[in-house]
Amino acid sequence: MKHKKIIFAGIMGLLLLAGCGTKGNGNSAANDSKELTVVATNSIIADMVKEVGKEEVSVHSIVPVGTDPHEYEPLPEDIKKASEADVVFYNGLNLETGNGWFDKLMETAKKKENEDYFAVSKEVAPIHLTGNSKQEDPHAWLDISNGISYVKQIQTVLSEKDPDNQASFKKNAEAYIKKLEALNTSAKEAFADIPSEKKLLVTSEGAFKYFSKAYDLTAAYIWEINTESQGTPDQMKQIVEKIRVSKVPSLFVETSVDKRSMERLSKEVDLPIYSELYTDSLAKKGEPGDSYYKMMKWNLDKIHEGLMK
Ligand SMILES: [Zn+2]
Repeated sequence: MKHKKIIFAGIMGLLLLAGCGTKGNGNSAANDSKELTVVATNSIIADMVKEVGKEEVSVHSIVPVGTDPHEYEPLPEDIKKASEADVVFYNGLNLETGNGWFDKLMETAKKKENEDYFAVSKEVAPIHLTGNSKQEDPHAWLDISNGISYVKQIQTVLSEKDPDNQASFKKNAEAYIKKLEALNTSAKEAFADIPSEKKLLVTSEGAFKYFSKAYDLTAAYIWEINTESQGTPDQMKQIVEKIRVSKVPSLFVETSVDKRSMERLSKEVDLPIYSELYTDSLAKKGEPGDSYYKMMKWNLDKIHEGLMK
């Protein structure tokens, strides 16, 4: 008897879940199928979509917070959400290419490029990898000017897909861009006071090429991109040499990488890891870098403090 009750409760639970699934978010009874369903490949792009779309969109991020977006195995839920989405945004610039997961997902979901799915980096001037000049470095969003270009791209696509809400997308995007521009300007001013021999930004992955160009630093790293092997003896030797000819006071480590190589490097050169940085993912909700704006502010503040030591 007890057993039957539990099974029944289980089935009811499943039915309830299934009911929620088919009704979208179910948060506006009167107008419920109207909001645009958007899928983004990672939490940073999803956050930008929320800023532009606000209550007119529902957003799902495929790669979870804290996880590396270069290589990923989509879950059944991701395939379902991608198939049902009105719009899919991805970074492009060689970010989601690690194991080809995004192309495969779009094929499975029967989505077409520039009709159903769009690269937010479309207008960005790419920087190429040092180790492979044929490949682009994906981390363009770490320069706020490029982040603003992503936002404009998102605004354009949302407005095409949902012309009725064009005016509110424009208003939201403009307010958001204004905030980002103010942060960008103050960061550029702040970095001008760091002595040049300390201006070496050492991280695990070489994710800071666009960032360093924008804020006048030199980026150094253990490995260039997360898809290559990480922390090999040769890579360690090269970064140690770079650090020893500089007067850099601090090292940094990203939240979405294996931290062991940076910890080894820190011991070897006897420099502290000053802070974690957000590169390929936002922070968990409620933590300091849980939006694009806040992760950039955190990175800029921490890097500035760490290099001024
Ligand atoms: Zn990366």
